[in-house]
Amino acid sequence: MANPLVSDRFIEFLLFDVLDAESLCQLPYFSDHSRATFSPWLAACRRVAREVLWPTYKPMDDAPPRFEDGRVFVHPTMKQCWKELVELGVLSASRPAEVGGQQLPLTVATLSHAYLMAGNLSAYGYAGLTTGAAHLIETFGSDAVKSMFLSAMYEGRWTGTMALTEPQAGSSLADVKSTATPKGDRFLIKGSKIFISGGDQDVTENIVHLVLARIDGAPAGTKGISLFAVPKKRVENGALVDNDVTVAGVIHKIGWKGLPSLALSFGDEGECHGWLVGPAHQGLKCMFQMMNEARLMVGVNAAATASVAFHESLAYSRERKQGRPLGVTDATTPPVPLTEHPDARRMLLRQKAIVEGSLAIIGLAAKFADLSEHATDDETRAESKLLLDLLTPIAKTFPAEKGFEANALSLQLHGGYGYSSEYLPESWLRDQKLNTIHEGTTTIQGLDLLGRKVIAGGGAALMALEKRVRASIAAAESAGLSFSKTLSTAMDELVRVTGTLGGRGASGDVLGMLGHSADFMELASTVAVGWAWLELAVRAAGKADDFSAGLVQAAKYWLNTEVPRATHLAHLCESNESSYLEVKDSQLDG
Ligand SMILES: Cc1cc2nc3c(=O)[nH]c(=O)nc-3n(C[C@H](O)[C@H](O)[C@H](O)COP(=O)(O)OP(=O)(O)OC[C@H]3O[C@@H](n4cnc5c(N)ncnc54)[C@H](O)[C@@H]3O)c2cc1C
Repeated sequence: MANPLVSDRFIEFLLFDVLDAESLCQLPYFSDHSRATFSPWLAACRRVAREVLWPTYKPMDDAPPRFEDGRVFVHPTMKQCWKELVELGVLSASRPAEVGGQQLPLTVATLSHAYLMAGNLSAYGYAGLTTGAAHLIETFGSDAVKSMFLSAMYEGRWTGTMALTEPQAGSSLADVKSTATPKGDRFLIKGSKIFISGGDQDVTENIVHLVLARIDGAPAGTKGISLFAVPKKRVENGALVDNDVTVAGVIHKIGWKGLPSLALSFGDEGECHGWLVGPAHQGLKCMFQMMNEARLMVGVNAAATASVAFHESLAYSRERKQGRPLGVTDATTPPVPLTEHPDARRMLLRQKAIVEGSLAIIGLAAKFADLSEHATDDETRAESKLLLDLLTPIAKTFPAEKGFEANALSLQLHGGYGYSSEYLPESWLRDQKLNTIHEGTTTIQGLDLLGRKVIAGGGAALMALEKRVRASIAAAESAGLSFSKTLSTAMDELVRVTGTLGGRGASGDVLGMLGHSADFMELASTVAVGWAWLELAVRAAGKADDFSAGLVQAAKYWLNTEVPRATHLAHLCESNESSYLEVKDSQLDG
């Protein structure tokens, strides 16, 4: 059977039985939608993912972009992929009708895009970046800036990028040095950016870079950063002319090979024109809209990359015959498929738990995104925003970190064949690693979660999450799912530890608060995904079919084997275990 990329049955179950996506259609913004519009959309995404993108994945992985005479040439098949993605309507799926969008709930758009990412993550990357960049202009751009860029981007004639990173300013965007000098209605931009995905290509006639730079005289740090739309080519007298954006080099990446990531130079000739987007000096604040959307997108990407690899290893494990069941020593009995071996089933169930748990926590976050924007009452909007903010670092980090482990398990199940490039798991493992790095590394997400999100509003977000977790535990108990008890303990630990660490922060002990932010991230993720698994299990409980029983088993696996780790993680955070806090640089050499 062909690799399904993502399980249709699971996505339908998640969307309609767990997230109740149809209930969103009662909100005025989504009132033109119903299951009757969601289903053809899902079908169209599946078709493009399976018939158009998936066949191009391996060719793109084998032949990365070429850099010749200052120009970047991507795989020729990307032109057809782009055409199909644009025709599908993926660029403006969730955007309002006024800008040509379909006003699809993010809940539906996000989960349907998982298919496209699982089919060919690089090809989807061009679309994801374009939507995010256009949305930024839609929200913060002046009418003049919107009319210059918006329709060209949403119609897919021009693509978009995010150009934040500089050689000296990666995680620390406060150190961005690119400059912007006022010139009439625009600015002259000068600076170097690195790793810019989609920064050049030969697919579309133009590219719009959303660039962070400092207006001359701006204060140091994040408060002096502004945001600019800087096209590769600007319009002059109705024609596109070169805008002094040059490719300084191509990054030779280990994955995501269909999407070029580049070093770009802006304004070498002093003729790079950029247009301010949003208020001066508030560029980073504006950029956070795109960064937060991109963080959720990275989470989906990670889940999708783990999903396609999981399905590959499942099919392989069912076919590959090796050895005999534990305890059978008679070598004349026929060998059995890998799936007959308990440890192979562990590796498969663990992948399933990571993939579907990731999709579920992302789906929950996406629904909070919909409600935070479009719910009709203030209270729901405010609480949903709190929960979205709390879950965003988790929905980015958990799928990326655990997805890498799932991808390694997929390779492991292929044995020696998995360690060869004739089989696909190694390529997804390479792809997956990026997700713990871009859009804020795992470290940065941990610091954000503990240093900001979880203590925001006096812990209001955590309280809102706790209310939901406790309700799920009660529902699980009523459904006879006794394994839910572990989550109750883990939730207690999370609340207690957050209080302790928050108290340390409030008293000025920053190291005492943040020294174990990585463990805190794992603790919070374990609890959040444990909650997502209970949400799935409660709806599947009591049904005899294999699909439902499989969900309950995966929930049981997660709640029995992972969630109890919360106690240890809580202890590390609270005791402020000091080995790496104390070890000196000079003591690290072997
Ligand atoms: C393939 C690829 C595509 C990319 N695409 C884009 C793009 O389209 N646009 C764009 O703007 N950028 C892009 N990036 C850049 C990406 O966002 C950065 O690589 C990332 O933010 C990390 O920055 P850095 O590489 O400079 O690493 P550094 O910031 O130097 O970090 C190195 C390590 O140190 C850790 N570290 C850093 N600071 C701290 C701290 N304060 N405390 C503890 N640990 C710390 C990090 O977690 C990391 O593990 C891309 C990167 C790659 C590899």
